[in-house]
Amino acid sequence: MTETIVVVGGGTGGTVLANRLAEDLASEIDAGEVAVKLVTDDPNHTYKPTFLYVAFGEREVADARRPLSELLDDRVDLHVDRVVDVDAEAKRIERRDGKRLGYDHLAIATGASVVPEETPGLKEGGHHFYNPDGTETLRAELASFEEGHLVLSVVGTPHMCPAAPLEFVFMADDWLRKQGRREDVDITYTYPIGRAHGLESIAEWATPRLDDRDIAVETFFNATEVDPDEQVVSTAEGTEMEYDLLVAIPPHTGDDLISAAGLGDDGWADVDNHTLESERADDVYVLGDSADVPTSKAGSVAHFEAGVVADRIASRVRGRTPTARYDGKTVCFIETGMDEATFVKFNYGEQPSLPDPSRFIHWAKLSYNESYWLTAKGLL
Ligand SMILES: Cc1cc2nc3c(=O)[nH]c(=O)nc-3n(C[C@H](O)[C@H](O)[C@H](O)COP(=O)(O)OP(=O)(O)OC[C@H]3O[C@@H](n4cnc5c(N)ncnc54)[C@H](O)[C@@H]3O)c2cc1C
Repeated sequence: MTETIVVVGGGTGGTVLANRLAEDLASEIDAGEVAVKLVTDDPNHTYKPTFLYVAFGEREVADARRPLSELLDDRVDLHVDRVVDVDAEAKRIERRDGKRLGYDHLAIATGASVVPEETPGLKEGGHHFYNPDGTETLRAELASFEEGHLVLSVVGTPHMCPAAPLEFVFMADDWLRKQGRREDVDITYTYPIGRAHGLESIAEWATPRLDDRDIAVETFFNATEVDPDEQVVSTAEGTEMEYDLLVAIPPHTGDDLISAAGLGDDGWADVDNHTLESERADDVYVLGDSADVPTSKAGSVAHFEAGVVADRIASRVRGRTPTARYDGKTVCFIETGMDEATFVKFNYGEQPSLPDPSRFIHWAKLSYNESYWLTAKGLL
């Protein structure tokens, strides 16, 4: 009998996982003993970090997309449809077209998306660079923004790529300077807790640099409402801030499927931090942004987790005890302007130290962005 592995989600986590499984279990798949099926609601794979550059006119949304059929190993059976239910007792998933697929092992990597509508007025009054439409609209706004108050407000946490809000203000500062518009633009960065970033060492590194660049910082700033007509953000702390251009990191949610399947609350799945196995269902793994683990919602996390999940599933298929464990490894580049960057690397519970920004690290980030497609193929 064929042992079936179903992967849900064709983003970073799901694509890397399916390709790793195809490689690790190639002989079993070729012998018809194992099948790997990837079910996803989009025929294209999207590399979301590109959206940051789209806002500044450095990349196009099309650069972020490639057909999954080009990225997946031929041994992976691709199904393009939305998964609407998981029956963990019967060990099967249901697609939107009503078709059911049975599984022996299920891995879910359905990611995160933004829900600006959760904060009153934010959708109408704010902009963001977290999806294709958002970043295209922001690009047009930035291109014509000649003077006034640009506010970058981190409204929702957790959010994808904890470095991106800092990257945005550093890049905006540099971009506007290079275009001779910076003198007429005030920039403010707001963060919900009492420092500039969730990780203490990043906050300590960023605060003096923001100051040097004349970027004002407001902490304990939890935006609760935006008045698009008056162009004012109100906070839970009782303060108000006027803006001319509001760039927000909107509230995020995981996919409905996670809650509907009883795997977690608010779209984030309860998993073991090291094995990524669901705490609520047998033979179910959740990885990437959908997994509620104590590290960043980052592509590097999804990538490293995919390696662990592939190893654990392959061991189980072969009747061996799985030993691979995820240690929280997270690696992120942080752009500090249009042509300089630094990076962080840390595991669970560690505070990263940041090297001085350099052009070399910036070029390393751009090179990684280009070679990402090899990562998705499971080759890097
Ligand atoms: C602006 C921006 C900049 C970023 N920069 C960086 C960076 O520099 N470095 C970094 O490491 N990370 C970065 N990230 C974060 C990174 O993109 C995500 O952490 C990563 O994509 C998570 O991978 P994932 O597989 O969990 O989810 P995703 O890549 O979002 O993939 C989810 C997939 O699941 C599919 N799907 C969802 N629901 C269903 C369903 N019910 N049925 C079937 N399919 C479904 C979706 O269509 C999608 O294909 C950035 C993100 C953004 C938005």
